[in-house]
Amino acid sequence: MLSALTSLNKAASLANSNIGASFAVLSRSFSIGNDHIRESDPAVHNLIELEKERQFHGLELIASENFTSRAVLEALGSPLTNKYSEGYPSKRYYGGNQVIDQIEVLCQDRALETFALSPDEWGVNVQPYSGSPANFEAYTAVLQPHDRIMGLNLPEGGHLTHGFYTPSKRISATSIYFESLPYHLDLATGLIDYDALEKSALDYRPKLLIVGASAYPRQIDYARMREIADKVGAYLLCDMAHIAGLVATETINDPFPYCDLVTTTTHKTLRGPRAGMIFFRKGVRKMTKKGENVMYDLETRVNQAVFPSLQGGPHNNVIAGIAVALKEAQSADFKEYQVQVCANAKALADRLMVHGYKLVSDGTDNHLMLIDLNKSKVSVDGARAEKVLEMAHITVNKNSVPGDKSALVPGGMRLGTPALTSRGMDAADMKQVADFIHRGVSIARDVQAASKSKNLKGFTAALKGNTDIQILGEEVKQFSKKFKIPGFTQEEIDL
Ligand code: PLP
Repeated sequence: MLSALTSLNKAASLANSNIGASFAVLSRSFSIGNDHIRESDPAVHNLIELEKERQFHGLELIASENFTSRAVLEALGSPLTNKYSEGYPSKRYYGGNQVIDQIEVLCQDRALETFALSPDEWGVNVQPYSGSPANFEAYTAVLQPHDRIMGLNLPEGGHLTHGFYTPSKRISATSIYFESLPYHLDLATGLIDYDALEKSALDYRPKLLIVGASAYPRQIDYARMREIADKVGAYLLCDMAHIAGLVATETINDPFPYCDLVTTTTHKTLRGPRAGMIFFRKGVRKMTKKGENVMYDLETRVNQAVFPSLQGGPHNNVIAGIAVALKEAQSADFKEYQVQVCANAKALADRLMVHGYKLVSDGTDNHLMLIDLNKSKVSVDGARAEKVLEMAHITVNKNSVPGDKSALVPGGMRLGTPALTSRGMDAADMKQVADFIHRGVSIARDVQAASKSKNLKGFTAALKGNTDIQILGEEVKQFSKKFKIPGFTQEEIDL
């Protein structure tokens, strides 16, 4: 018996050693793992380096972009990316989530703290993959298919996810799965026409009213929006994607006291990783005529809409990145930064107006402005101006402006200061930036006048070898290089 056992043990240990040997061979043959990207994939590495160089040598004026911190980049590149954790803290569909649970709860706590919200009155979902999914998830939480929704018209500053359709096609999924009606700006002032909005809301009776925009340079009257929502019994949702950093630091009006839901991205003025969040009200929603409380039920609805309705496993490395960004957003430095973002926007706007540019609403209260090129002294369309500026290392985006007939030939440009401010530029630097932009737009106008090209392709061909653009580009490069990029040491940039 004993000898039989001994021989069994021997056989087992032999088998084990064979298994061990075969694992050793296998693990030697799996070479993927420890090489730096520079060695393992030079093609992708080189492209990353080129993009780093572009960001360093150029002026980034896209209003929705920013430079995140080294700490956020570290969270993004951490092993948290390896973990699956469908579900919510303490209620996961996968094992091994003890640490992930702590990260998600920490992120939720910081999100509420950052916007000075009581956990008795507000909750937050930090799992949305980005701003567009966050919006669709919030809609899914409170709407049935074909329910009505109103948002600011896309060509007048709204976002695609707030609904968009043309006479022949429903473009945005918001308009495919729900019925949407846009509200508008007052064309004379460039401000939201609240009276007209109220009138159409009373006719249309939306179930959800969206406030918030991608290209609106002025303060928003949230109290008025609440009044309108109450008149028609609608939920009021603020999409504060662009202005979240400004809201967190009370640099502009706070939407939270007036809204039922607030969605946001985390990568614009908030300076975090690319992601989204949904804030939802808790507690008493309203009182009935009989004096009974009607409670909010948004927590379950929002959480279910995110998972399992529209998403799978959360991106835990990104959630950790949001948590890091939210800690940064609570610092005094971040408040100073946001004040500077607005001061820079005002300085840039003022200097552009000195050059004869017409800005929508004649200025800005926040981080962005819209140049109406149709009505400016230097007149050329947005696409052509964008092209020349891009060749001179100045990144802006063409944008439709109120009164534009075609979205294909937008008559304006949107400029924002968050990214340049993150690089340490101040109001005096904005004067230089405005002068560069003016030179670029003037070149675009002159080339257009000389070439008379009917389309952008012909115009781009006419720009080939243009020495004015080359000279401007070199000056822009030399100017930009004086400012660091957050997240990288000088040696890392110089590599
Ligand atoms: N909401 C607004 C107001 C935006 O401006 C944007 C993006 O620019 C989004 C939502 C969508 O965010 P994302 O691009 O992360 O999906």
